[in-house]
Amino acid sequence: MAVVYYEHDADLSVLKGKKIAVMGYGSQGHAQAQNLKDSGLDVIVGLRPNSQSRRAAEEAGLQVTTVAEAAAAADIIQILLPDETQARVYREEIAPHLKAGKVLMFSHGFNIHFNQIVPPPDVDVVMVAPKGPGHLVRRMYVEGQGVPALLAVYQDASGRAKEIGLAYAKGIGATRAGVIETTFKEETETDLFGEQAVLCGGATALVKAGFEILVEAGYQPEIAYFECLNELKLIVDLMYEGGIKYMRYSISDTAEYGDVTRGPRIIDDHVRANMKAILKEIQDGVFAKEWILENQAGRPSFNALRKKEREHLIEQVGDSLREMMPWLKK
Ligand code: NDP
Ligand code: MG
Ligand code: MG
Repeated sequence: MAVVYYEHDADLSVLKGKKIAVMGYGSQGHAQAQNLKDSGLDVIVGLRPNSQSRRAAEEAGLQVTTVAEAAAAADIIQILLPDETQARVYREEIAPHLKAGKVLMFSHGFNIHFNQIVPPPDVDVVMVAPKGPGHLVRRMYVEGQGVPALLAVYQDASGRAKEIGLAYAKGIGATRAGVIETTFKEETETDLFGEQAVLCGGATALVKAGFEILVEAGYQPEIAYFECLNELKLIVDLMYEGGIKYMRYSISDTAEYGDVTRGPRIIDDHVRANMKAILKEIQDGVFAKEWILENQAGRPSFNALRKKEREHLIEQVGDSLREMMPWLKK
């Protein structure tokens, strides 16, 4: 089982007298920068010159500079830019200022694990990755709570990388909830697998297949939308609150019997073999290479797939049905 760290395992004073640069002020950046500041730490925010996020950061009382200036001034550099832009920004604006003894931090391992960023050997490389969206990381902190996070050390030049990572995790409130030790490899590979096989890829493909099969069999698309997409939220909310057992306790016995007898026929050995093949493409770097090249080429097939997906009947039916749901935000 995992090693978990809490408040008493982390010492905030490790970061006293150190300057922390948070690069980016999006979902994670705004939450981590504000939490660190409210923990009494010295934080600056690095943004591009015409950044849309600048105003919000300044309104929160944070000092904003360019990424290069922040990298030069800081002892600890947390990169919270979109993963696809990190390598370029690192190369052009951060690497020239990475003096020996500095700490380079991430909230996701992709660029380090797949060698898109190769830091010099004399800096610490640490990950603190909250297991929740930024707005929750901020809200929990303000309420005196925290969101769990993962901690990983990739490179320990100072011999104190873990201590620094734990102090950072405390600064954002994560040790109030619990910080789980992992590696860049484990975090990156499981994150990609989860989103591809289960959360995003698996779930949307399952929803669309169910919808298409009902529509092809002559059922109305509106009814198929409710049964295959809309009600998924109810089921997921129950699983999130109390696990699969709580969801099954809440649904009818008919639904539960159909679940336990039919579910394994949907996710059969053939599907499991496909999932294993997808895991292997992640582990051997085939997926990462494909995605990096796709970005370098200007995303031609990604853009085409995006367009095609948006034209699916389920999206058109959903648009008009959601008009009937006043509780949904537009
Ligand atoms: P966002 O897309 O929400 O924010 C990105 C920020 O980077 C924005 O402030 C944007 O500002 C800025 N930015 C974009 N391009 C550049 C550039 N070229 N130069 C300088 N600044 C730029 O990112 P997230 O917070 O979602 O993700 C950040 C990291 O956190 C990623 O590694 C991600 O994997 C990780 N993570 C994200 C989680 C989440 O909940 N979203 C959860 C856990 C980890 P602007 O465009 O205004 O300049
Ligand atoms: Mg993830
Ligand atoms: Mg991910």
